[in-house]
Amino acid sequence: MVSTEAATAVMKRPYEVEDGLVRLRAGRCPACNAVYCPARLVCDGCGHRGLEEILLAPRGKIYTFTTVHQSTPEFQTPYHLCYVDFDEQVRVMLPAAGEERPRIGEDVEIVLGTGPRLVGTEPEEGPHALMVAGPATGRDEDDV
Ligand SMILES: [Zn+2]
Repeated sequence: MVSTEAATAVMKRPYEVEDGLVRLRAGRCPACNAVYCPARLVCDGCGHRGLEEILLAPRGKIYTFTTVHQSTPEFQTPYHLCYVDFDEQVRVMLPAAGEERPRIGEDVEIVLGTGPRLVGTEPEEGPHALMVAGPATGRDEDDV
Protein backbone atom coordinates (compact mmCIF):
# COMPACT_ATOMS: atom_id res chain seq x y z
CA MET A 1 0.00 0.00 0.00
CA VAL A 2 1.33 3.41 -1.00
CA SER A 3 1.27 6.14 1.62
CA THR A 4 -0.76 9.29 0.96
CA GLU A 5 2.43 11.37 0.78
CA ALA A 6 4.03 9.03 -1.75
CA ALA A 7 0.87 8.86 -3.85
CA THR A 8 0.71 12.66 -3.97
CA ALA A 9 4.29 12.84 -5.21
CA VAL A 10 3.48 10.50 -8.08
CA MET A 11 0.39 12.50 -9.09
CA LYS A 12 2.17 15.87 -9.41
CA ARG A 13 1.98 17.59 -12.77
CA PRO A 14 4.63 15.79 -14.86
CA TYR A 15 6.35 18.95 -16.08
CA GLU A 16 7.20 22.53 -15.21
CA VAL A 17 7.25 25.54 -17.53
CA GLU A 18 10.19 27.88 -16.88
CA ASP A 19 10.72 30.94 -19.08
CA GLY A 20 8.47 29.38 -21.71
CA LEU A 21 10.47 26.14 -21.78
CA VAL A 22 8.80 22.86 -20.85
CA ARG A 23 10.88 20.65 -18.54
CA LEU A 24 9.79 17.13 -17.65
CA ARG A 25 9.74 16.17 -13.98
CA ALA A 26 11.95 13.16 -13.27
CA GLY A 27 13.50 11.32 -10.33
CA ARG A 28 17.18 10.68 -9.62
CA CYS A 29 18.40 7.99 -7.28
CA PRO A 30 20.79 9.52 -4.72
CA ALA A 31 22.47 6.14 -4.23
CA CYS A 32 23.31 5.14 -7.83
CA ASN A 33 22.36 8.27 -9.89
CA ALA A 34 19.88 6.39 -12.10
CA VAL A 35 17.28 8.76 -13.57
CA TYR A 36 13.62 7.86 -14.21
CA CYS A 37 10.98 9.75 -16.16
CA PRO A 38 8.25 9.54 -15.07
CA ALA A 39 9.67 9.55 -11.55
CA ARG A 40 9.09 6.52 -9.35
CA LEU A 41 9.20 5.73 -5.68
CA VAL A 42 11.87 3.03 -5.69
CA CYS A 43 15.03 2.73 -7.83
CA ASP A 44 14.92 -0.25 -10.20
CA GLY A 45 18.70 -0.42 -10.19
CA CYS A 46 19.55 -0.58 -6.50
CA GLY A 47 16.26 -0.68 -4.63
CA HIS A 48 16.83 2.68 -2.90
CA ARG A 49 13.63 4.34 -1.69
CA GLY A 50 13.13 8.09 -1.92
CA LEU A 51 14.38 9.44 -5.25
CA GLU A 52 15.14 13.15 -5.50
CA GLU A 53 13.09 15.21 -7.92
CA ILE A 54 14.84 16.83 -10.87
CA LEU A 55 13.71 18.66 -14.00
CA LEU A 56 15.08 17.43 -17.31
CA ALA A 57 16.59 19.78 -19.88
CA PRO A 58 13.93 21.34 -22.15
CA ARG A 59 15.56 19.69 -25.17
CA GLY A 60 16.62 16.20 -26.10
CA LYS A 61 17.66 14.14 -29.11
CA ILE A 62 15.54 11.59 -30.97
CA TYR A 63 16.96 8.09 -30.41
CA THR A 64 14.35 6.38 -32.58
CA PHE A 65 10.65 6.52 -33.40
CA THR A 66 7.75 4.53 -34.76
CA THR A 67 4.60 5.56 -36.57
CA VAL A 68 1.31 4.52 -34.99
CA HIS A 69 -1.41 3.73 -37.53
CA GLN A 70 -4.05 2.25 -35.20
CA SER A 71 -4.95 3.60 -31.78
CA THR A 72 -7.89 4.15 -29.48
CA PRO A 73 -10.66 6.38 -30.91
CA GLU A 74 -9.60 9.56 -29.05
CA PHE A 75 -6.26 9.73 -30.87
CA GLN A 76 -6.15 10.63 -34.54
CA THR A 77 -3.76 8.44 -36.50
CA PRO A 78 -1.18 8.30 -37.86
CA TYR A 79 1.12 9.86 -35.28
CA HIS A 80 4.78 9.39 -34.47
CA LEU A 81 5.96 8.04 -31.13
CA CYS A 82 9.56 8.90 -30.28
CA TYR A 83 12.21 7.83 -27.81
CA VAL A 84 14.01 11.01 -26.78
CA ASP A 85 17.40 10.96 -25.04
CA PHE A 86 18.13 13.67 -22.48
CA ASP A 87 21.48 14.90 -21.15
CA GLU A 88 20.44 13.51 -17.75
CA GLN A 89 21.02 10.00 -19.15
CA VAL A 90 17.36 9.06 -19.43
CA ARG A 91 15.30 8.01 -22.46
CA VAL A 92 11.64 9.08 -22.53
CA MET A 93 8.85 7.98 -24.88
CA LEU A 94 6.98 10.99 -26.23
CA PRO A 95 4.58 11.53 -29.12
CA ALA A 96 5.73 13.96 -31.82
CA ALA A 97 3.93 17.30 -31.99
CA GLY A 98 3.28 17.35 -35.70
CA GLU A 99 2.63 15.06 -38.63
CA GLU A 100 6.12 15.57 -40.03
CA ARG A 101 8.24 12.43 -39.91
CA PRO A 102 10.83 12.72 -37.08
CA ARG A 103 14.52 12.30 -37.88
CA ILE A 104 16.71 10.04 -35.78
CA GLY A 105 19.42 12.10 -34.09
CA GLU A 106 17.44 15.33 -34.43
CA ASP A 107 17.46 17.78 -31.53
CA VAL A 108 13.93 18.42 -30.29
CA GLU A 109 12.32 20.52 -27.60
CA ILE A 110 9.46 19.56 -25.35
CA VAL A 111 6.27 21.51 -26.01
CA LEU A 112 2.70 21.34 -24.76
CA GLY A 113 -0.07 20.25 -27.05
CA THR A 114 -2.77 17.68 -27.61
CA GLY A 115 -2.25 14.02 -28.22
CA PRO A 116 -1.36 10.89 -26.31
CA ARG A 117 -0.21 11.46 -22.74
CA LEU A 118 3.21 10.60 -21.35
CA VAL A 119 2.96 7.01 -20.16
CA GLY A 120 2.63 6.71 -16.39
CA THR A 121 1.45 10.24 -15.68
CA GLU A 122 -1.83 11.46 -14.32
CA PRO A 123 -4.02 13.81 -16.37
CA GLU A 124 -4.24 17.44 -15.30
CA GLU A 125 -7.50 19.07 -14.35
CA GLY A 126 -9.14 21.25 -16.99
CA PRO A 127 -8.05 21.35 -20.61
CA HIS A 128 -5.60 18.76 -21.82
CA ALA A 129 -2.03 19.90 -21.39
CA LEU A 130 -0.09 17.08 -22.91
CA MET A 131 3.56 16.57 -23.62
CA VAL A 132 4.79 16.18 -27.12
CA ALA A 133 8.19 16.46 -28.73
CA GLY A 134 8.65 18.86 -31.60
CA PRO A 135 11.60 20.03 -33.63
CA ALA A 136 13.84 22.47 -31.75
CA THR A 137 12.83 25.95 -32.79
CA GLY A 138 16.28 27.46 -32.36
CA ARG A 139 14.48 30.57 -31.18
CA ASP A 140 16.40 33.74 -30.53
CA GLU A 141 15.60 37.22 -29.26
CA ASP A 142 13.79 38.14 -32.48
CA ASP A 143 11.23 35.33 -32.12
CA VAL A 144 8.29 36.06 -29.87
ZN1 LIG B 1 19.57 3.49 -7.38
